[in-house]
Amino acid sequence: MKFRNFKMVDYVVYGRGCFDQLDEILAPRRTNGAPVIFLLDHYFEQNEAFKNRIPLRDNDELIIADVTHEPKTSYVDTIADHLKDKFGTVSGVVGIGGGSVMDLAKAVAIMMNNPGFAQDYQGWDLVKNKAVYKVGIPTLSGTGAEVSRTCVLTGPTRKLGMNSDFTPFDQIVLDPALIKGVPKDQNFYTGMDCYIHCIESLQGTYLNEFSKSYGEKALELCQEIYLHKDVWDEDSDEKLMMASYAGGMSIAYSQVGVANAVSYGLSYLLGTKHGIGNCIVFNHLEEFYPEGVAEFHKMVEKNSIYIPQGICRDLTDEQFDTMINVSLGMAPLWENALGKDWQSQMTRERLRALYEKL
Ligand code: NAD
Repeated sequence: MKFRNFKMVDYVVYGRGCFDQLDEILAPRRTNGAPVIFLLDHYFEQNEAFKNRIPLRDNDELIIADVTHEPKTSYVDTIADHLKDKFGTVSGVVGIGGGSVMDLAKAVAIMMNNPGFAQDYQGWDLVKNKAVYKVGIPTLSGTGAEVSRTCVLTGPTRKLGMNSDFTPFDQIVLDPALIKGVPKDQNFYTGMDCYIHCIESLQGTYLNEFSKSYGEKALELCQEIYLHKDVWDEDSDEKLMMASYAGGMSIAYSQVGVANAVSYGLSYLLGTKHGIGNCIVFNHLEEFYPEGVAEFHKMVEKNSIYIPQGICRDLTDEQFDTMINVSLGMAPLWENALGKDWQSQMTRERLRALYEKL
């Protein structure tokens, strides 16, 4: 098909306090006594007040999701196998947390109805069967994982998402109260994921009016909260949550670009987290995105954010090669950024020089 016919999230509820509607939302989805599984970001493990608001019923299970590292295919398999052994099937999987938990929840829901291992489905359109019902409830905003058709996983040989029509959530719950009080650095790193998505999408060769409309809105919201406002307040949380949604929608019909392609290599080799990794890379991408990078520098300064430098200083040739291989494997990202002849522009030498700058 010439034009992508993409699957979107089915239901969206937005508003401060809408988390408390979750019980009502889940009620009609509970089938034949099968439980609902809640995957809760470990950040909330000791927060009894929040845990008490999770509508656990009957044999439902609350699993604390360990996101010390970004989700691995082996972790997805462990959780899905546990659920299959214990319950056979489940009524649904609800992920409550940052982008890592969003991706984990999508992947576990997929593996409940698909044979084999999560690593078998890393790639494009490899998932065979519809997932079980799945709900995403972000507690960090910026990745766009709540709306995207992928769930990024690190497997034995690569970091790559399960991109498929079965990946998007059936329902998302966007409650800006849940992102209140995120520490400043984490808020910035995840928020910049959205800002960088916008720059990569708006300057990409895949751009069309659909992507542009969402991307421009998300960019405007990011500029307002990170550049023009002097205090972070409830209005900022609301704007960031909608920026993340719009940024994710912009990518749905386009692609990300150089920052993401390069940071995948860092993440694979060094375990650098996605948000901060994108910032480390974007900081040095003047040659690709001059205006966006200049504005990013202003936002870093205004918000007094620390962006690490020199992280590739002591790497070996072999390690550089590993990162280069992972990065060049992201063909659609490079094509979006540089056009169809990207391979002649982004040589291994040029990419190595870029990694050396970080
Ligand atoms: P994250 O989910 O990795 O979380 C970062 C840290 O913040 C964790 O320690 C987490 O416990 C903590 N945290 C969660 N909620 C919090 C809160 N309310 N207050 C304070 N701390 C909180 O970070 P992220 O930036 O949201 O997500 C990054 C992940 O998203 C990566 O795994 C990346 O690959 C993925 N991602 C996915 C997509 C997609 O389309 N599927 C897009 C971009 C990124």
